Amino acid sequence: MLISWNVTKRCNLYCAHCYRDSGPHASVERQLTTGEGLRLIDEIAEAGFKMIIFSGGEPLLREDLPELVAHAKTRGMRAAMGSNGTLLTAEKARELKVAGLAGAAISLDSASPEHHDRFRGDSGSWEKAVDGIRHALDADLKVQINMTITEHNAGDFAAMTDLAVELGVQALHPFFLVPTGRGKSIEEDALKKGRYYQTLRQILSRQKNSPIEIKPTCAPQFMPLSRDMELNLRFSRGCLAGVSYCCVLPDGEVNICPYLPVSAGNVRERPFHEIWRESNLFQDLRDYTKYEGTCGACGDVGICGGCRARSYYYSGGNLLAEEPWCYKRENKDEERICQ
Ligand code: SF4
Ligand code: SF4
Repeated sequence: MLISWNVTKRCNLYCAHCYRDSGPHASVERQLTTGEGLRLIDEIAEAGFKMIIFSGGEPLLREDLPELVAHAKTRGMRAAMGSNGTLLTAEKARELKVAGLAGAAISLDSASPEHHDRFRGDSGSWEKAVDGIRHALDADLKVQINMTITEHNAGDFAAMTDLAVELGVQALHPFFLVPTGRGKSIEEDALKKGRYYQTLRQILSRQKNSPIEIKPTCAPQFMPLSRDMELNLRFSRGCLAGVSYCCVLPDGEVNICPYLPVSAGNVRERPFHEIWRESNLFQDLRDYTKYEGTCGACGDVGICGGCRARSYYYSGGNLLAEEPWCYKRENKDEERICQ
Protein backbone atom coordinates (compact mmCIF):
# COMPACT_ATOMS: atom_id res chain seq x y z
CA MET A 1 0.00 0.00 0.00
CA LEU A 2 1.11 3.48 -0.88
CA ILE A 3 0.40 6.89 0.64
CA SER A 4 1.24 10.47 -0.35
CA TRP A 5 1.62 13.09 2.33
CA ASN A 6 1.53 16.64 1.00
CA VAL A 7 3.88 17.94 3.70
CA THR A 8 3.42 21.60 2.78
CA LYS A 9 1.29 23.80 0.57
CA ARG A 10 4.18 26.15 -0.04
CA CYS A 11 6.11 25.90 -3.30
CA ASN A 12 8.84 27.90 -5.01
CA LEU A 13 6.95 27.59 -8.32
CA TYR A 14 3.37 28.52 -9.33
CA CYS A 15 2.39 25.89 -11.89
CA ALA A 16 -0.73 26.37 -13.99
CA HIS A 17 -2.29 22.99 -13.15
CA CYS A 18 -1.44 22.61 -9.45
CA TYR A 19 -4.07 20.48 -7.68
CA ARG A 20 -3.00 21.81 -4.29
CA ASP A 21 -3.14 25.48 -5.40
CA SER A 22 0.40 25.84 -4.05
CA GLY A 23 2.79 28.71 -4.52
CA PRO A 24 5.41 30.88 -2.85
CA HIS A 25 2.80 32.66 -0.71
CA ALA A 26 0.65 29.68 0.29
CA SER A 27 -0.09 29.61 4.01
CA VAL A 28 1.73 27.13 6.24
CA GLU A 29 -0.25 28.15 9.31
CA ARG A 30 -2.23 24.91 9.67
CA GLN A 31 0.55 22.62 8.39
CA LEU A 32 1.31 19.56 10.54
CA THR A 33 4.34 20.18 12.76
CA THR A 34 7.38 17.90 12.91
CA GLY A 35 6.03 16.20 16.04
CA GLU A 36 2.61 15.67 14.47
CA GLY A 37 4.31 14.37 11.33
CA LEU A 38 6.39 11.81 13.22
CA ARG A 39 3.25 10.56 14.95
CA LEU A 40 1.43 10.41 11.62
CA ILE A 41 4.24 8.26 10.19
CA ASP A 42 3.83 5.86 13.13
CA GLU A 43 0.09 5.64 12.44
CA ILE A 44 0.66 5.09 8.70
CA ALA A 45 3.04 2.22 9.50
CA GLU A 46 0.48 0.84 11.95
CA ALA A 47 -2.10 0.82 9.12
CA GLY A 48 0.23 -1.43 7.10
CA PHE A 49 1.48 0.97 4.41
CA LYS A 50 4.79 -0.04 2.84
CA MET A 51 5.57 3.11 0.89
CA ILE A 52 5.27 6.82 1.70
CA ILE A 53 5.74 9.66 -0.76
CA PHE A 54 6.57 13.06 0.70
CA SER A 55 5.19 15.65 -1.68
CA GLY A 56 3.69 19.12 -1.58
CA GLY A 57 3.77 21.91 -2.55
CA GLU A 58 7.50 21.46 -2.68
CA PRO A 59 8.68 19.05 0.06
CA LEU A 60 12.25 20.37 -0.12
CA LEU A 61 10.97 23.59 1.47
CA ARG A 62 10.49 21.66 4.73
CA GLU A 63 13.71 21.66 6.67
CA ASP A 64 12.65 18.59 8.64
CA LEU A 65 12.30 16.45 5.48
CA PRO A 66 15.43 14.33 6.22
CA GLU A 67 14.11 13.67 9.75
CA LEU A 68 10.71 12.61 8.42
CA VAL A 69 12.34 10.37 5.80
CA ALA A 70 14.61 8.75 8.39
CA HIS A 71 11.64 8.10 10.67
CA ALA A 72 9.64 6.47 7.88
CA LYS A 73 12.59 4.20 7.16
CA THR A 74 12.90 3.15 10.81
CA ARG A 75 9.19 2.26 10.70
CA GLY A 76 9.88 -0.14 7.82
CA MET A 77 8.55 1.97 4.98
CA ARG A 78 10.15 2.78 1.66
CA ALA A 79 10.34 6.58 1.41
CA ALA A 80 10.21 8.59 -1.79
CA MET A 81 9.64 12.24 -2.61
CA GLY A 82 7.58 14.03 -5.26
CA SER A 83 9.33 17.26 -6.18
CA ASN A 84 9.63 19.85 -8.94
CA GLY A 85 13.36 19.13 -8.73
CA THR A 86 14.47 22.74 -9.02
CA LEU A 87 15.81 22.92 -5.45
CA LEU A 88 17.47 19.51 -5.46
CA THR A 89 21.18 20.27 -5.13
CA ALA A 90 23.86 17.57 -5.15
CA GLU A 91 24.32 18.09 -1.41
CA LYS A 92 20.59 17.83 -0.63
CA ALA A 93 20.26 14.67 -2.72
CA ARG A 94 23.14 13.04 -0.80
CA GLU A 95 21.69 14.16 2.56
CA LEU A 96 18.31 12.62 1.72
CA LYS A 97 19.93 9.42 0.49
CA VAL A 98 21.82 9.10 3.78
CA ALA A 99 18.55 9.75 5.67
CA GLY A 100 17.00 6.78 3.85
CA LEU A 101 15.24 8.21 0.81
CA ALA A 102 14.88 5.50 -1.84
CA GLY A 103 13.70 7.55 -4.79
CA ALA A 104 12.54 10.84 -6.21
CA ALA A 105 9.71 11.56 -8.64
CA ILE A 106 10.58 14.77 -10.45
CA SER A 107 8.19 16.74 -12.63
CA LEU A 108 9.22 17.37 -16.22
CA ASP A 109 6.46 18.08 -18.71
CA SER A 110 8.28 18.30 -21.97
CA ALA A 111 11.52 17.67 -23.80
CA SER A 112 11.18 21.33 -24.80
CA PRO A 113 12.41 23.74 -22.12
CA GLU A 114 10.09 26.50 -23.42
CA HIS A 115 6.96 24.40 -22.97
CA HIS A 116 7.93 23.19 -19.51
CA ASP A 117 8.90 26.69 -18.35
CA ARG A 118 5.62 28.17 -19.60
CA PHE A 119 3.58 25.49 -17.85
CA ARG A 120 5.58 25.77 -14.63
CA GLY A 121 5.52 29.58 -14.67
CA ASP A 122 9.27 29.97 -14.29
CA SER A 123 11.90 30.56 -16.94
CA GLY A 124 14.83 28.24 -16.31
CA SER A 125 12.83 25.65 -14.35
CA TRP A 126 13.39 22.95 -17.02
CA GLU A 127 17.17 23.31 -16.74
CA LYS A 128 17.00 23.25 -12.94
CA ALA A 129 14.70 20.20 -12.91
CA VAL A 130 17.05 18.29 -15.23
CA ASP A 131 19.97 19.24 -12.95
CA GLY A 132 17.90 17.93 -10.02
CA ILE A 133 17.35 14.64 -11.86
CA ARG A 134 21.10 14.29 -12.47
CA HIS A 135 21.90 15.07 -8.81
CA ALA A 136 19.38 12.47 -7.64
CA LEU A 137 20.86 9.81 -9.95
CA ASP A 138 24.40 10.71 -8.83
CA ALA A 139 23.28 10.20 -5.22
CA ASP A 140 22.07 6.73 -6.22
CA LEU A 141 18.38 7.54 -5.82
CA LYS A 142 15.87 5.82 -8.12
CA VAL A 143 14.32 8.50 -10.32
CA GLN A 144 10.90 8.64 -11.91
CA ILE A 145 9.90 11.50 -14.19
CA ASN A 146 6.32 12.70 -13.78
CA MET A 147 4.99 14.30 -16.95
CA THR A 148 1.60 16.04 -16.82
CA ILE A 149 -0.08 15.32 -20.14
CA THR A 150 -2.34 17.96 -21.69
CA GLU A 151 -3.53 18.82 -25.20
CA HIS A 152 -0.40 20.98 -25.55
CA ASN A 153 2.27 18.37 -24.87
CA ALA A 154 0.70 14.99 -25.72
CA GLY A 155 2.60 15.11 -29.03
CA ASP A 156 5.82 15.45 -27.06
CA PHE A 157 5.53 12.06 -25.39
CA ALA A 158 7.90 10.19 -27.75
CA ALA A 159 10.61 12.84 -27.31
CA MET A 160 10.11 12.71 -23.54
CA THR A 161 10.59 8.95 -23.55
CA ASP A 162 13.86 9.36 -25.44
CA LEU A 163 14.99 12.04 -22.99
CA ALA A 164 14.08 9.88 -19.97
CA VAL A 165 16.12 6.97 -21.37
CA GLU A 166 19.03 9.30 -22.20
CA LEU A 167 19.03 10.75 -18.67
CA GLY A 168 19.13 7.22 -17.24
CA VAL A 169 16.01 7.41 -15.05
CA GLN A 170 14.16 4.25 -14.07
CA ALA A 171 10.59 5.32 -14.91
CA LEU A 172 8.44 7.81 -16.79
CA HIS A 173 4.90 8.29 -15.51
CA PRO A 174 2.63 10.37 -17.74
CA PHE A 175 -0.07 11.92 -15.51
CA PHE A 176 -3.37 12.64 -17.21
CA LEU A 177 -4.54 16.08 -16.08
CA VAL A 178 -7.57 15.91 -13.77
CA PRO A 179 -8.94 19.46 -13.58
CA THR A 180 -8.97 20.23 -9.86
CA GLY A 181 -7.32 22.88 -7.70
CA ARG A 182 -5.78 25.50 -9.98
CA GLY A 183 -6.07 22.89 -12.77
CA LYS A 184 -9.78 23.85 -13.03
CA SER A 185 -8.76 27.06 -14.74
CA ILE A 186 -7.09 25.07 -17.54
CA GLU A 187 -9.81 22.41 -17.84
CA GLU A 188 -9.97 23.00 -21.59
CA ASP A 189 -6.30 21.91 -21.79
CA ALA A 190 -7.08 18.41 -20.43
CA LEU A 191 -6.97 15.80 -23.21
CA LYS A 192 -10.21 15.61 -25.11
CA LYS A 193 -11.90 12.24 -24.79
CA GLY A 194 -10.83 10.91 -28.21
CA ARG A 195 -7.23 12.02 -27.71
CA TYR A 196 -7.29 10.44 -24.25
CA TYR A 197 -7.50 6.89 -25.60
CA GLN A 198 -5.29 7.61 -28.57
CA THR A 199 -2.57 8.86 -26.20
CA LEU A 200 -3.14 6.04 -23.75
CA ARG A 201 -2.66 3.43 -26.48
CA GLN A 202 0.42 5.25 -27.78
CA ILE A 203 1.92 5.19 -24.27
CA LEU A 204 1.18 1.51 -23.79
CA SER A 205 2.64 0.62 -27.20
CA ARG A 206 5.82 2.47 -26.28
CA GLN A 207 6.11 0.43 -23.07
CA LYS A 208 6.42 -2.72 -25.18
CA ASN A 209 9.91 -1.82 -26.39
CA SER A 210 11.14 0.48 -23.68
CA PRO A 211 14.00 -0.24 -21.27
CA ILE A 212 12.30 1.92 -18.61
CA GLU A 213 8.93 1.63 -16.89
CA ILE A 214 6.25 3.78 -18.51
CA LYS A 215 3.05 3.89 -16.49
CA PRO A 216 0.01 5.96 -17.41
CA THR A 217 -1.23 7.56 -14.19
CA CYS A 218 -4.78 8.68 -13.43
CA ALA A 219 -5.93 6.88 -16.56
CA PRO A 220 -7.15 3.66 -14.91
CA GLN A 221 -8.43 2.09 -18.11
CA PHE A 222 -4.79 1.38 -18.94
CA MET A 223 -5.18 -1.88 -17.03
CA PRO A 224 -7.88 -3.52 -19.20
CA LEU A 225 -6.32 -1.97 -22.31
CA SER A 226 -2.84 -3.31 -21.48
CA ARG A 227 -4.30 -6.76 -20.88
CA ASP A 228 -6.03 -6.61 -24.27
CA MET A 229 -2.69 -5.56 -25.81
CA GLU A 230 -1.03 -8.54 -24.06
CA LEU A 231 1.34 -6.38 -22.07
CA ASN A 232 2.40 -8.01 -18.87
CA LEU A 233 2.45 -5.04 -16.51
CA ARG A 234 3.25 -5.44 -12.82
CA PHE A 235 0.47 -3.16 -11.53
CA SER A 236 -2.51 -4.36 -9.53
CA ARG A 237 -5.19 -1.78 -10.36
CA GLY A 238 -5.71 1.30 -12.52
CA CYS A 239 -6.98 3.51 -9.68
CA LEU A 240 -5.76 2.63 -6.20
CA ALA A 241 -7.57 5.49 -4.44
CA GLY A 242 -9.15 4.37 -1.20
CA VAL A 243 -8.27 0.73 -1.88
CA SER A 244 -4.50 0.66 -1.43
CA TYR A 245 -3.71 4.38 -1.70
CA CYS A 246 -4.72 7.64 -0.09
CA CYS A 247 -3.35 11.08 0.56
CA VAL A 248 -2.81 13.25 3.64
CA LEU A 249 -3.02 17.02 3.14
CA PRO A 250 -0.71 19.56 4.81
CA ASP A 251 -3.32 20.27 7.52
CA GLY A 252 -3.94 16.57 8.30
CA GLU A 253 -7.10 15.98 6.26
CA VAL A 254 -7.16 12.47 4.75
CA ASN A 255 -8.42 12.39 1.15
CA ILE A 256 -8.83 9.46 -1.18
CA CYS A 257 -6.46 11.09 -3.65
CA PRO A 258 -4.86 14.50 -4.22
CA TYR A 259 -7.40 15.37 -6.91
CA LEU A 260 -10.49 14.87 -4.76
CA PRO A 261 -11.24 17.35 -1.99
CA VAL A 262 -13.41 14.91 -0.04
CA SER A 263 -12.16 14.21 3.47
CA ALA A 264 -12.39 10.91 5.33
CA GLY A 265 -11.25 12.56 8.57
CA ASN A 266 -8.40 14.57 10.08
CA VAL A 267 -5.38 13.00 11.78
CA ARG A 268 -5.47 15.75 14.40
CA GLU A 269 -8.82 14.38 15.56
CA ARG A 270 -8.50 10.65 14.94
CA PRO A 271 -5.51 8.34 14.39
CA PHE A 272 -4.77 7.76 10.72
CA HIS A 273 -5.03 3.97 10.98
CA GLU A 274 -8.57 4.25 12.33
CA ILE A 275 -9.60 6.59 9.51
CA TRP A 276 -8.07 4.25 6.93
CA ARG A 277 -9.74 1.14 8.31
CA GLU A 278 -13.10 2.47 9.41
CA SER A 279 -14.24 5.53 7.45
CA ASN A 280 -17.38 4.99 5.39
CA LEU A 281 -15.74 6.71 2.45
CA PHE A 282 -12.97 4.12 2.19
CA GLN A 283 -15.33 1.23 2.97
CA ASP A 284 -17.53 2.28 0.04
CA LEU A 285 -14.61 2.48 -2.39
CA ARG A 286 -13.52 -1.05 -1.42
CA ASP A 287 -16.97 -2.48 -2.08
CA TYR A 288 -17.11 -2.74 -5.87
CA THR A 289 -20.76 -3.81 -5.74
CA LYS A 290 -21.57 -0.19 -4.83
CA TYR A 291 -20.06 1.25 -8.01
CA GLU A 292 -22.71 2.54 -10.37
CA GLY A 293 -23.53 2.53 -14.08
CA THR A 294 -20.98 1.06 -16.48
CA CYS A 295 -18.39 0.65 -13.72
CA GLY A 296 -20.88 -1.22 -11.51
CA ALA A 297 -21.62 -3.67 -14.31
CA CYS A 298 -18.03 -3.97 -15.50
CA GLY A 299 -16.07 -7.19 -15.20
CA ASP A 300 -12.88 -5.14 -15.06
CA VAL A 301 -13.83 -3.02 -12.05
CA GLY A 302 -11.36 -4.98 -9.89
CA ILE A 303 -8.37 -4.11 -12.08
CA CYS A 304 -9.54 -0.65 -13.22
CA GLY A 305 -12.08 1.08 -10.96
CA GLY A 306 -12.40 4.17 -13.15
CA CYS A 307 -11.22 7.58 -12.04
CA ARG A 308 -13.25 8.38 -8.94
CA ALA A 309 -12.27 12.07 -9.20
CA ARG A 310 -13.69 12.40 -12.71
CA SER A 311 -16.78 10.43 -11.65
CA TYR A 312 -17.23 12.82 -8.72
CA TYR A 313 -16.82 16.02 -10.73
CA TYR A 314 -18.84 15.09 -13.75
CA SER A 315 -21.73 13.60 -11.73
CA GLY A 316 -22.04 16.59 -9.39
CA GLY A 317 -20.55 14.87 -6.32
CA ASN A 318 -21.12 11.11 -6.52
CA LEU A 319 -17.87 9.23 -5.86
CA LEU A 320 -19.36 5.94 -6.98
CA ALA A 321 -20.84 7.17 -10.27
CA GLU A 322 -19.68 5.64 -13.54
CA GLU A 323 -16.45 6.96 -15.04
CA PRO A 324 -17.56 9.52 -17.65
CA TRP A 325 -14.61 8.92 -19.98
CA CYS A 326 -14.72 5.14 -20.13
CA TYR A 327 -14.54 3.58 -23.58
CA LYS A 328 -17.02 0.94 -22.45
CA ARG A 329 -19.91 3.38 -22.08
CA GLU A 330 -22.58 2.89 -24.71
CA ASN A 331 -23.61 5.40 -27.34
CA LYS A 332 -20.89 7.84 -26.49
CA ASP A 333 -19.14 9.87 -29.14
CA GLU A 334 -15.79 9.23 -27.54
CA GLU A 335 -16.19 5.48 -27.95
CA ARG A 336 -16.64 5.84 -31.69
CA ILE A 337 -13.67 8.17 -31.88
CA CYS A 338 -11.46 5.80 -29.94
CA GLN A 339 -12.14 2.43 -31.44
S1 SF4 B 1 -9.43 8.96 -8.43
FE1 SF4 B 1 -8.66 9.54 -10.45
S2 SF4 B 1 -7.23 11.20 -10.01
FE2 SF4 B 1 -7.55 10.06 -8.10
S3 SF4 B 1 -5.93 8.49 -8.02
FE3 SF4 B 1 -7.74 7.55 -8.97
S4 SF4 B 1 -7.41 7.82 -11.17
FE4 SF4 B 1 -6.06 9.27 -10.13
S1 SF4 C 1 -16.49 0.68 -16.86
FE1 SF4 C 1 -15.37 1.61 -15.14
S2 SF4 C 1 -14.25 -0.10 -14.24
FE2 SF4 C 1 -14.85 -0.78 -16.28
S3 SF4 C 1 -13.13 -0.29 -17.62
FE3 SF4 C 1 -14.55 1.46 -17.65
S4 SF4 C 1 -13.79 2.88 -16.09
FE4 SF4 C 1 -12.87 0.87 -15.71
